[in-house]
Parts: sequence; structure tokens; C-alpha cells
Amino acid sequence: MNEIWNIAIDRAVNNNVPRVRSILESYPYINDARKKLRQGKTEVIKDISKYVELTIESVKRNGGNAYFARDAKEVREIVDKIVGDNQRIVMGKSMVAYECGVRDHLIERGKDVWETDLGEFLIQLSNEPPSHIIAPAIHMTKEQASKVVRKVNPDSKAESHEEIAVEARKFLREKFINAQVGITGANAIAADTGSVLLIENEGNIRMTTILPEKHIAIAGVEKILPTLEHAFLEVMVQSAYAGLYPPTYVNLTSGPSSTGDIEMKRVSPAHGPKEFNLILVDNGRIEVSKDPTIWESLLCIRCGRCHFHCPVYRVLGSTWGDPPFTGPMGAMWSYVSYKDATPSTYCVHSGGCREVCPMDINIPKVLEKLKSLSQK
Ligand code: SF4
Repeated sequence: MNEIWNIAIDRAVNNNVPRVRSILESYPYINDARKKLRQGKTEVIKDISKYVELTIESVKRNGGNAYFARDAKEVREIVDKIVGDNQRIVMGKSMVAYECGVRDHLIERGKDVWETDLGEFLIQLSNEPPSHIIAPAIHMTKEQASKVVRKVNPDSKAESHEEIAVEARKFLREKFINAQVGITGANAIAADTGSVLLIENEGNIRMTTILPEKHIAIAGVEKILPTLEHAFLEVMVQSAYAGLYPPTYVNLTSGPSSTGDIEMKRVSPAHGPKEFNLILVDNGRIEVSKDPTIWESLLCIRCGRCHFHCPVYRVLGSTWGDPPFTGPMGAMWSYVSYKDATPSTYCVHSGGCREVCPMDINIPKVLEKLKSLSQK
């Protein structure tokens, strides 16, 4: 990797690693939460089909639409049907949407599509693949980001972190207001209530889920949890281990907007979206759930911590894995979603990833198994 990567990753590690340690010391109850979360996730992974059915029933009960997509092609077909003739689409950092090629597909169909998470926005403008699961533009220094935002404002003088963020804010505000469709992922989905939970700090996801008339949440089936209580545990654990605790915003969506203010009769829509759609994506996950070793990769909550404790990622960066899946979790997920076991062969088994993983995933063991598959 080049010198710029070395500068960028050093800055990111120095900002993230001490912050996560401090959060875990300050909020010791996170430790109990992560253990309960692992139990809940395991319960679903052992019986995914049952929980997919329960979730679909719950979403429909709330007045939403729910779909199951076997692969990326089916995801794109369902998205096409929901989007219809609508032209402006805002997206709120969905890794599954990236995995399924949704943004590029919509742009090919002539839609006006904008990523609204600052990191994803920089990635879209620079036409580069994401390099980290929660910080997709981690490979860019602020000096590079400053050049990238000039693509939408050639007169921009933004140089500091704050000025670059303001530049994106000015450009994207109009996109949110005039979008007809908002596409997000999901950090957690509660099977019992059909609720989708999304964690963020920027406010872009809140606007993506609220302002357009249609909201589409695209999520892997492994994001389902048995109950809303488990889903809140995931919010706490994921944000703590990502170094973003407490999260600025937690967005909970259970169906389209509604009101019961006239005679207590609940009607829809109210001020928010008229339509809520959840697409549950398999794309290789159910097959992996049956493997006695590789199933553990489905426990990943995408906190991104393993990246910062891995010597291989520090050297290879975004070239290790199949985007959006990079680093130790990416070496597992390149196989889950793309059936590519090759990234596992770069693992040197330092064990750093396992020590820091909130879900206690035995990442080295999973990668060892994938190495053996890559040699067949
Ligand atoms: S493998 Fe563990 S540490 Fe790495 S992103 Fe997933 S949950 Fe976080």
C-alpha cells in the first residue's frame, strides 16, 4: 500500500482504539449486553427460515411490505418494482445494498442516486471501493477528501474535517428534500415487532428514512434478532465497539408513518413515508449457517474493531477482501457473500481480531477452514 494509506490508517487507529477502550471502561454493562446479544443472534442463525417468516408477518401486521430475496439479482428486481418511475433516490449507508450492486444498478437505469453518509458520499464521488465496514473512506486523508468535495463544488475552500463535513451538508440537503425514495440498511431487526433499528451520528439516516415517500430497508437475514429487546442490545454493543457510544441517533421504524389523533383511529400516512418496505437478503447466508465452523461469521455485528487490531489489514488495507468486506471480518464475509475463500489465505493468525471481537467469533478458526476450502 502507498504512503497515504499509512498516514490514513495511523490516524484512524490513534483516534479509534483509545476511544473504544475508554467507552468499555466507562460503561461496564456493555459486557453483559454483548453476551446476551450473542445468544440471541445464535438462536436466529440456527433457525433462520423460521425467523424470516416471523419477521415478514410482523412487518405486514404493521402495515409494511416485506420480501425475501435469495440473491443479489432478486434484490435488484424487488428494488426496481418499488422504485418504479420515481427518479431521485437517497441512500443511507447500506452495505448489503453495495453487496447487491443496488446503487450502480439504479444509476444505470437513469436514476439520480446519492449516498448521504459522508464516507459513502466521498466514495461515490471518487469512484473508489469502500475500505472499512463502518468508515468506508478510511483510506482518504483529509487533504484528499478536501479535493474530492470539489467535484460537487469547484469553488470549495474546505480543508479541515469540519469544513469538509459542512460542504457535504450544503450539497446533500436539497437531495434529501426532493428524494422520492430512501434506501437504508439495518443494524438490527426485531422478529417479534417487525422493527428495523439503525444507528448513526450524522442525521442522514434519519432524513433518508423520514423525508421520502417510500423507505426501503435492505438487510441480510442474519440481522434478525428474536425480540426488540435483543435489537436494542445490538444498538448498544455495536455503537460501543465502533467507538461511537452513545450513538447520536437511533432510528426505529415499524411500518409506514401513521396517526391515531382523530378518535384514536390509526390511519396512514402521517408526516413520514407512505410506504415501508423491508427486503431480507439471503445471498449465501443460509448455506453458511449450516456449516459447523463458518456459521460464526454470521454473528458479526459490523463494528469494525477487528480491522484495527490486525497486522495484515494495517498493511493491505482495502485490497484485502472483496468490497465492502475488508479486513478480518471481510476475509470471512468475502466467502459468505461471494464464495471467495482466497482472502483467508492472507491471514497470519496473530489472534488480535479474536481478542477484541464483541461477539467472541473465533475468526482465526473460520479463516483456517476457509484456507482449506481455497486449496481444494
Ligand atoms: S468480526 Fe467481530 S470485531 Fe470484526 S467487525 Fe465483526 S463483530 Fe466487529
